[in-house]
Amino acid sequence: MAPLIVCLDLEGVLIPEVWIAFAEKTGIDALRRTTRDEPDYDKLMQGRLEILDEHGFKLGDIQDVIGAMEPLPGAREFLDALRARTQVVILSDTFYQFAAPFMRQLGQPTLFCHQLLVDEADRVTGYELRIPDGKRRAVAALKDIGFRVHAAGDSYNDTTMLKEADKGVLFRCPDNVAEEFPEFERTDAYDELLVLLEL
Ligand SMILES: [Mg+2]
Repeated sequence: MAPLIVCLDLEGVLIPEVWIAFAEKTGIDALRRTTRDEPDYDKLMQGRLEILDEHGFKLGDIQDVIGAMEPLPGAREFLDALRARTQVVILSDTFYQFAAPFMRQLGQPTLFCHQLLVDEADRVTGYELRIPDGKRRAVAALKDIGFRVHAAGDSYNDTTMLKEADKGVLFRCPDNVAEEFPEFERTDAYDELLVLLEL
C-alpha cells in the first residue's frame, strides 16, 4: 500500500484564528471581519492591510502580538503523536510571517501557505498567494507522487482538500459545514481525530 501523509489545516485545527485573535489583542474591531462577512478574499485582505497601515502596525508589531499567542490546548501533543506515526504537512491559507511564532511552538512542522510582501521599513504592502486553490492542489500533487493522503480541516476553505484526499475529516467545524458535507466524518476531539485519520 502507498505510504500515508496526513494534511492538516492550521487555523481552527491547531491554532486560533489569527485575525480574530489579533483584533482582540489590539482592540481593532474592524479586523474581526472574516470571509463570512466578505466573500471576496482580495477585498478582505486589502481592507485588513489598510487598517494595519492606519494604525501604523509594522510586521514586527504584528509578530509580537502573535508571538504572545499559543496553539490550541492539546494541539502540540496531538501533532507530536501524529508525527511519531506518519509524516504531516500543514496546508494553510495563512502567511509564513504570521505562522512562524506558532510553528516554533509546534516543533517546526512542514507548512505550505502564502506570504506577505514587506518593504524595507517592515511595512506590510501586500500579499502573494503561492498558487490559487493551494490546499486541494497540494493534496493532488502528493497523490501524484505516490502517497495516500488523509486530511482534516474545520471550514469551507478545506472542503476541496478533504474531497481530493483519500479520506477527509472535519474537525471542530461549524454545524452548517457539517450539514452541507455529510460525506465527511466529524469530531471535536484530538484523540478521536487520530482514530478517524486511521492512525
Ligand atoms: Mg481553518
